[in-house]
Amino acid sequence: MKFPQTLAELEQSGYQPRSVKAELQANLIEKIRKGRELFPGIIGYDNTVIPEIENAVLSGHDIIFLGERGQAKTRIMRSLIELLDASIPVIAGCEINDNPFKPICKKCHAALDEHKGATRIAWLPRSRRYAEKLATPDVTIADLIGDIDPIKVAEGRYLADEHAVHYGLVPRTNRGIFSINEIPDLHEKIQVGLFNLLEERDVQIRGYQVALPLDICIVATANPEDYTSRGRIITPLKDRFGAQIRTHYPATLDEECAIVRQEMNRFQFDGFRVTLPEFMEKVIVEISQTARRRSEINHSSGISVRMTIHNMETLISNALRRAIRLNEQEVIPRISDLVHLPATMKGKIEWNFAENHEEEGKIAALIRDAVQKIFRETFPRGAFEPFLKQFSGEDTLEVSECTDSLSYAEKIERYSSLREKAAGLVDRSTPAALASAAEFVLEGLFITGRILKETHDHHTRYGTKP
Ligand SMILES: [Zn+2]
Repeated sequence: MKFPQTLAELEQSGYQPRSVKAELQANLIEKIRKGRELFPGIIGYDNTVIPEIENAVLSGHDIIFLGERGQAKTRIMRSLIELLDASIPVIAGCEINDNPFKPICKKCHAALDEHKGATRIAWLPRSRRYAEKLATPDVTIADLIGDIDPIKVAEGRYLADEHAVHYGLVPRTNRGIFSINEIPDLHEKIQVGLFNLLEERDVQIRGYQVALPLDICIVATANPEDYTSRGRIITPLKDRFGAQIRTHYPATLDEECAIVRQEMNRFQFDGFRVTLPEFMEKVIVEISQTARRRSEINHSSGISVRMTIHNMETLISNALRRAIRLNEQEVIPRISDLVHLPATMKGKIEWNFAENHEEEGKIAALIRDAVQKIFRETFPRGAFEPFLKQFSGEDTLEVSECTDSLSYAEKIERYSSLREKAAGLVDRSTPAALASAAEFVLEGLFITGRILKETHDHHTRYGTKP
């Protein structure tokens, strides 16, 4: 299809302009009817968040997403872009994407008066109809809405003349989606300005009343605690949001595993083969899920899925580091790699009352509890009685993050029942895989009180209980 390039061509084409919300509605209806996946890559929200978004869009509502950090709020807002038309006609050169049939800026009115049907049309792709702003206390009316150029006013232009206005981010997103992250952090004065712009369609800039009948869909995010705390957000702005949608963390281990797999860095290096055993993957995810249940953690900011992703990446990187040093091809993370997680976890957890020096210990306890939970879920009670009979007397097994896989596997060979259980945990019984699986078993037996453990300098010795 050839896109009309002038107003006359656009009129002849039969193009019917519609508001941005009507456009979102129509395209959503089309997608639902065709059975298309509406939010590809958004995992775990099929029965909670997504139906609410659909209702909000069908209702033509502005939306506020309430949720703690790392709940894909920004990603969801950005995915709304896909509900816009591929491109829409605007008057060429207009700063605020004016509708050719109904311009609001003076410059476009003047252009139409002068060129009439020959007025140039440009086509704006949907990717350019979305803007995002992180609300901070220093965001100004000038940033969001606009400023009056005092020189132009001094030149004698009359007060409400929009020629004297330098448009901010919201008018520049006219006919699109404007998203504000952490809206309660906007100064109250800015909230008032924003509300007037959206509701009254005019706004005061430096004391001048400027009319700006914008066509815009607003989406915003807020931490639930900030949003509900008195005085953080002005009531009329709150009322403006037709839909308040609560996001949440992945409800299950499997969902969080799926998100992490989708989002984490790809580890593909020539000469190395990265394998992530299922039990290690579950341990990493369980660390976050356990943290979300801990009462000693302040949950108002939450435990982001990003922490899980970063932990997974650090875990694999440490295994890779070992493989490089030991000149091995197989990269398989072990329990002893977990000792490096505090580097990615610190700062992502807010402890209640924890002193700085206590943090490492609290993180270690969190990791231990996660390993214990996954160990108990993986093996039935009594699964290791045969091994515990073999592992007796003065027996010890020394392991570390830097023990090479072959000598690790040799140590395991001495205990047939340990080897058998370890082999059952992995797809291929390579030395690196057996080392990882055996260490999970040994650590699990230690945590559940069946064997002893001593650690010095990242070297761990498991021993029998007297
Ligand atoms: Zn214009």
